[in-house]
Amino acid sequence: MTATAAAGVSIQHVVKRYGDTVALAGLSLQVEPGEILGVAGPNGAGKSTLIKVLAGEVRPDSGTISVRGEPWTAELGTHRIAVVHQDPQLFPNLTVAENLLAGREPSRTRRPHLQQADRDMLEETGLLRYADHVLGDLPLALQQRTEIARALVRNADVFLFDEPNSALTEDESEELFTRMHALADSGRMVVLVTHRLPELAAHADRVAVIVDGSCRTILARAELSEERLARELVVGRVAVATDVRAQRQGADVTSLLLENWTHASGAFHDIRLSLTRGEIVAVVGVEGSGGRELVRSVAHFEKASGSREPAGTADEVAFVAADRANSLFDNLSVAENLYIRQSARIRTRGGLLKRREAETLASEARRDFLVKTAALDMPIRSLSGGNQQKVAIASALALDPDLVVLEEPTRGVDVSSKAEIYRLLRAFAKRDRTVLLYCTEDSEVFDVADRAVVISRGRTVGELDCTSFTDAESLAGEIAGLTTGVVRPVARTAGGAR
Ligand code: ADP
Repeated sequence: MTATAAAGVSIQHVVKRYGDTVALAGLSLQVEPGEILGVAGPNGAGKSTLIKVLAGEVRPDSGTISVRGEPWTAELGTHRIAVVHQDPQLFPNLTVAENLLAGREPSRTRRPHLQQADRDMLEETGLLRYADHVLGDLPLALQQRTEIARALVRNADVFLFDEPNSALTEDESEELFTRMHALADSGRMVVLVTHRLPELAAHADRVAVIVDGSCRTILARAELSEERLARELVVGRVAVATDVRAQRQGADVTSLLLENWTHASGAFHDIRLSLTRGEIVAVVGVEGSGGRELVRSVAHFEKASGSREPAGTADEVAFVAADRANSLFDNLSVAENLYIRQSARIRTRGGLLKRREAETLASEARRDFLVKTAALDMPIRSLSGGNQQKVAIASALALDPDLVVLEEPTRGVDVSSKAEIYRLLRAFAKRDRTVLLYCTEDSEVFDVADRAVVISRGRTVGELDCTSFTDAESLAGEIAGLTTGVVRPVARTAGGAR
């Protein structure tokens, strides 16, 4: 082992498989003491799995990890590594204070008490006044702050942050970054996983770009810029067939027009969005930009007000949520999932299912969507992630709506399913329908969208005609350019000068 490997966290050839999915494919990476190591990569690249392996939440199949020269053990993981998850992993039925102390019970009968350091941390994070509130009753931002306070109050050596500020305001995020710099400046190791490229460019000392479960490249501080990161994230991806790419033709007939469209809880403001028949439009923005809420509001899954023409009801829009658990019925078969959304059409007046029609519908959908399953009566759970997603999309498109809204349609989906999903969305749009997507990945925008609407901090910051770009890298660069300047770098503390 080299001297630097002994000093920091050394990850060597780590492999983690979930069934057929290779989440980490022999990943090697070094985290140096005193640095903030950024981790970037497309959805499904293995970033969260890496964090979970380091935190001891997931056991790798092979590979080695050491911390300051000591081999990783569960004991070391518990005491020396602190983790802040994107979705706070806390106890919603306990108070903020109890959550801070959970795991520190001196005995089964004695409850732990807040020490001075705990109080100071609650005070510093603005949580002291909520100490006795039940966590589950508090807004997500306060829950996220509790998760952060819980990690910070532990005198850990390695701090892992997995999209830690998706529910925080700009000021709260800046505070969090100041803390991360302070941790690094005191010689700790900080790993930051985020989709927010401006934040990586502003705060990371180095950024590891993870793709398909291994580290593709590491950008040093001097090479770091939002645009460079955006370009790195799209190179080397498998291109989809050119006939799927932007190619809209024909007369512009508006299918939906939103004006002064404002989210009920403030995620976006005063948006103007016009959709045309036959086109695929991507709303592009990182988590917290308001993009997700915007497309969900079009599908009537989030409340918003303003002018909407035509007003439309939930029945005229089909929606496929990012989380497959919300689009599929986990306890039903592949066939049932394929026809369930149409069950009104395929029932007798007495309410019985017309079995033959249902089966025809399901087998047509399976054929059209190239769903790979041994049999239609197999449980949906038995399918690969990509094939489950095809079923979710097939059941939405089978309703033949005028507008289909999809949130990150190929999140965590393998490359071949990805290309098939794009082809099917294109075929659907060509039938004079409209497709609206929420995308966090620039390569997806290039592969399938005709037009990109870029959202940042709840506002539209630009629109791009995707047909005018010949490669994904330049589109990614342009999108990055539109969102630049959104994050102000914080002043570094003493000792953190670069
Ligand atoms: P990222 O955080 O970069 O989006 P993840 O680490 O969450 O990526 O996922 C990497 C791959 O492993 C994806 O293909 C994902 O679908 C798969 N995966 C992650 N967790 C599980 C799990 N618990 N069961 C099955 N597959 C999983």
